[in-house]
Amino acid sequence: MLPGVTTLSESLTRVLGPRTAKSLDTIFGLRTVGDLLRHYPRRYYTRGELTDLSSLREGDHVTVLARVVTVAEIPLPPVPGKGRRSRLEVVVTDDRAKLILTFFSGIGRYRRVLRPDVVGMFAGTVSSFRGRRQLVHPECEMLPGAPPNADLNPELAAEFAAEMTPVYPASARFSSWLIAKSVKTVLDTLDTLDAGEDPLPAELREREGLYGRAEALRAIHRPLDPADLDRARKRLKWDEAFLLQAALARRRLAAAAMPAMPRPHVDGGIADEFDARLPFTLTNGQVEVGETIATELSCASPMHRLLQGEVGSGKTVIAIRAMLQVVDAGGQAALLAPTEVLAQQHYRSITDMLGPLARQGQLGAAEHATGVALLTGSVGAAARRAALSDVFTGDAGIVIGTHALLEEQVQFADLGLVVIDEQHRFGVEQRDALRAKAADNRPHVLVMTATPIPRTVAMTVYGDLETATLTELPAGRSAIATHVVPAADKPRYLERAWERVREEVGRGQQAYVVCPRIGDVPGSPDSDEAGYPGEDDFGDVDMTGGIPRGVAPGGRRQPLAVIDVAATLDAGPLAGLRLGILHGRLHPEEKDRVMREFAAGQIDVLVATTVIEVGVDVPNATVMVIMDAERFGVSQLHQLRGRVGRGTAAGLCLLVTEAPPASPARERLDAVADTLDGFKLSRLDLAQRREGDVLGAAQAGRQSSLKLLQLLKDEDLIRQARQDATQVVSADPQLTAHPALREAIDELLGVQAEYLDKT
Ligand code: ADP
Ligand code: MG
Repeated sequence: MLPGVTTLSESLTRVLGPRTAKSLDTIFGLRTVGDLLRHYPRRYYTRGELTDLSSLREGDHVTVLARVVTVAEIPLPPVPGKGRRSRLEVVVTDDRAKLILTFFSGIGRYRRVLRPDVVGMFAGTVSSFRGRRQLVHPECEMLPGAPPNADLNPELAAEFAAEMTPVYPASARFSSWLIAKSVKTVLDTLDTLDAGEDPLPAELREREGLYGRAEALRAIHRPLDPADLDRARKRLKWDEAFLLQAALARRRLAAAAMPAMPRPHVDGGIADEFDARLPFTLTNGQVEVGETIATELSCASPMHRLLQGEVGSGKTVIAIRAMLQVVDAGGQAALLAPTEVLAQQHYRSITDMLGPLARQGQLGAAEHATGVALLTGSVGAAARRAALSDVFTGDAGIVIGTHALLEEQVQFADLGLVVIDEQHRFGVEQRDALRAKAADNRPHVLVMTATPIPRTVAMTVYGDLETATLTELPAGRSAIATHVVPAADKPRYLERAWERVREEVGRGQQAYVVCPRIGDVPGSPDSDEAGYPGEDDFGDVDMTGGIPRGVAPGGRRQPLAVIDVAATLDAGPLAGLRLGILHGRLHPEEKDRVMREFAAGQIDVLVATTVIEVGVDVPNATVMVIMDAERFGVSQLHQLRGRVGRGTAAGLCLLVTEAPPASPARERLDAVADTLDGFKLSRLDLAQRREGDVLGAAQAGRQSSLKLLQLLKDEDLIRQARQDATQVVSADPQLTAHPALREAIDELLGVQAEYLDKT
């Protein structure tokens, strides 16, 4: 008899033995009792209910409950020296659709077990054979009622007698019922956990009528009935919401208690001169947010502000004004950009906008000029040394860079402000890494994003930040018109799209053509691709007729690639125009050259991957054609089209797709075409992703801590949990009176606890 499990952080090795524990770790990343118990069933089979076989998707690993219809042994073509061979073809059904199970060995044994009319669970990967879906050599477990000579597993028989049978996210190497068995072993030893203290405060449990923790864990794995399951889910959702909010509240509180150097506005400094030189009037929103930030920068506790603003709403200028205030006050400011292209663009535009104000130590510098340094992975050794030295001495008041800024050698004289552009590309770790570069005091932090975030997501992912939002676009912006171009059934529309590109270029404007793939560059793997991958067995692309379209005989083709599309356009529809190519596998210098030429109007049409997704600002570009648009995520498309219509001329975005009308992919594109409201689109995007994906970039740790909580649907619960957690934490920041809560936060957040506690 195993000693009882008393803590969820107990290693699985001790409870399940090294073999099983090792498999669970390598296959699913489950190491502790808590990991396994939070590997929740994907769904439950209710007794008598068969799986909807028509819903199975090719390539998925599935566990289905179905009834055997026919069993047939079919001879295989003879192979010399192999004797007579055959395969067993078993047809199973859910009483509507059919699925084939194919076996090439052990045929005699399977014939004995798989008799017409018996019901069993079958697990395998869905493939297709001559247009019919099948599982090859699935694992089989027959339900009670199978013929007496079937090798029935008595333990499983008992499982199936229950009203609801859990089906786990499983793999070919570790089936759903093996997981069920491991969970059962753990649950059987869980007794003493009941006695342990519950991490959720008793008052809260009472108010919400929640199950105890052990009770909930037991019920989610082996619910007595749907009501039991509901109560288990509710309790476990509260765990997720409350623990995360408590962790964030602690982080907020700790951060607010840290000292920061006040960096108040200095009259007549660079910031004032910069304002005077601005070629436009700030929008009301820019002024307002600017004031908020200016005030926070002059406080003795660090600013933690998230600035949300639609694509093109003018966040950069707010960041520059904040950086200059800090520089005037004697500090340095760092601007972290997610891509090389964006870092270089920021460097160019900031030095341009500052003019003589940025030429410290150079001829023609303004009276109190500062220096601007650029640090990216591709800066040459000599330039890098010079930049590092300027950063170290403080000669560079503004430091712009990519991840290279986070390297250890980068040392600041006095880092006062960290600005992070397009936060959705960075995690909390990067924010912390950069923040750690400030000497004694905490630097102020401003993070910016153009991906509007629903409130609950902001509360969860960026729960430690205060938010500000820019709602208006600068005056004189014209709207972006977006249209879906159905390339498959209306090739004429695509021809028209290229004509539109030619017209815009004829008028002196510029264009982007975006493709999901780079294409063949010898010797390097495809990197910056569209966010919605999916299929992998593609046929060849048919590029005939000067218009890249067509489907290979296999039914599917590869997504269109920059290299191929550029060549086709150059030889056909856009012949005579100056085309440029931009993608992640170009040498950084080459990228910089291309962007420079495009910004200078020396390139008419830029054929690119999503490297241009965020931040790229060339106001003269007015039209964007997105090829295979269904391969991009909703928010991604919205970001992409934000590259056009940044000047006074109207923007046009064409979403080229072969997705048939009324397909889900087409509906997504229609939604993007129908609204310019990034907030609405981000909700739609979120609704289509798993929560873990949403949190993925922002959460460290090997597993997302949110499994049941749905950021959109559980808004009320999250809001309530945030309020409760903040209250508990403010009253008792060290959680001395709540040891179980403290421990649970550490357990649940795992690796994340390291950074949460750092603050
Ligand atoms: P985003 O918020 O997407 O980062 P940017 O900061 O790149 O937007 O600004 C987009 C463009 O708008 C830039 O060319 C910028 O110079 C310009 N801009 C910013 N503020 C204003 C304003 N108040 N009036 C006119 N143009 C502005
Ligand atoms: Mg920007």
